Amino acid sequence: MQKIECISVFDMLKVGVGPSSSHTLGPWRAAQRWIEELKQKDIFDQVESIHIDLYGSLSLTGKGHATDIAVMLGLCGFDPVTMDIDQIDPEIQLILDTRTIRLNNEKTIHFNSVEQIKFNRKFLEFHPNGMTFRAGLINGKKTVSSFYSIGGGFVVKEERKNAKKKMESFQQFPFPIEKATELLAFCKAENKPISAIVLENEKSLRSEEEIDSGLKHIWKVMLESMYTGCHTEGTLPGGLNVHRRSFDMHKRLIGDAQYNSPQEWLEVIRQTEVKFRQILKWVSCFAISVNEVNASLGRVVTAPTNGSAGTVPAVLMYYLVIENHEATFQDIKRFMLVAGEIGSLFKKGATISAAMGGCQAEIGVSSAMAAAALTEAMGGTPEQVLMASEIAMEHHLGLTCDPIGGLVQIPCIERNAMGAIKAINAAEIAMESDASKAKVPLDKVIATMWDTAKDMNSKYKETSEGGLAVKVNLSDC
Ligand code: SF4
Repeated sequence: MQKIECISVFDMLKVGVGPSSSHTLGPWRAAQRWIEELKQKDIFDQVESIHIDLYGSLSLTGKGHATDIAVMLGLCGFDPVTMDIDQIDPEIQLILDTRTIRLNNEKTIHFNSVEQIKFNRKFLEFHPNGMTFRAGLINGKKTVSSFYSIGGGFVVKEERKNAKKKMESFQQFPFPIEKATELLAFCKAENKPISAIVLENEKSLRSEEEIDSGLKHIWKVMLESMYTGCHTEGTLPGGLNVHRRSFDMHKRLIGDAQYNSPQEWLEVIRQTEVKFRQILKWVSCFAISVNEVNASLGRVVTAPTNGSAGTVPAVLMYYLVIENHEATFQDIKRFMLVAGEIGSLFKKGATISAAMGGCQAEIGVSSAMAAAALTEAMGGTPEQVLMASEIAMEHHLGLTCDPIGGLVQIPCIERNAMGAIKAINAAEIAMESDASKAKVPLDKVIATMWDTAKDMNSKYKETSEGGLAVKVNLSDC
């Protein structure tokens, strides 16, 4: 059996802070890991100076993606899952004002972020999102460590020490899966839907209670991010003067309805008009709201990345408020298990990093995840689930990444709405099809996505050096 890393649903759906999983969440995690490393080597107390170098895509779009802010927060010991979002600005201001940083909330040293976080245009060989942390010690020695943010908040070192552990976990899986064909074979052999196969694998990593409470938390964050986005007006930060649209869209859609919590809100939406145009608007509104929250450094669930965080929740919300008013947590759970598994197939067979594959790797994958999950939720067979996923990706192939000003706003926010609508359409087409006659298997589209990624000019891979990013000037916005 070929060895491959074990990827859990909780690797694909992670709670984090916007605006980017590869450029914000990943560097944040890398900074935390570096601090951990210093402690393990027993040299943390000796650190008297630090320097951080950001390379390649992390440098080219790092400012717009708040990479420097994320690194500083990680160095301070804050966690992206639990940090109070409202504290981000004051904490960063404190570092800038005092020209000091409190490492891991334990040790204060001099730190001038302008000079000590360097944006280098050069690319490191291992991956386009490289970063190096350097520390000067009291005894005059130096220590250096490099990390790579490979998309979706995943961080690796070149030697990939973690890979061994992950492979061992893979070996423990009752249903080890690398490709869609293997997933389908297990479904057939066991006569089970995809979600049941994925659940068995998850259960080899953690108890079912832990799985349930983890997925409930993920759904809570997803719902809250939609709720927050729909109830926050104003302009997004970053200088593009992007107006937050979900607030007005939502106001027109919801009318005078009264509610006091995200759950009550969901119930109220179930009672609203459901003509085709309204459905389109609601789904777009859900997707846009999440990505407006993401763009303002808010809390969202990476699915599979932050830039594409709106697609999966928007489609799940569509299912809950339009398709199935009787849906329970069990339906949400199945939806997420399928979405996570499809995302992991793309990560194993291609990439979920825009710096490696452009936007097809972000919005394309999120749309494929959502399409598959919706199809199973609506009663589709495993073949139809995979077909829906394939259709959704097929019509995102070649999609480039060209965020204006390096900010995850234009085209990113709208793109989530388009990904969500395509996912719903892909699910409907698959549900109406004889999937045994599908001409393009999911594995082939994953391989095609990867080939397309390799052929794509680097200026379309999260560098803001091509496409809309160069055609539209910041001064026009
Ligand atoms: S264009 Fe797509 S891949 Fe690039 S930052 Fe925006 S959402 Fe992410």
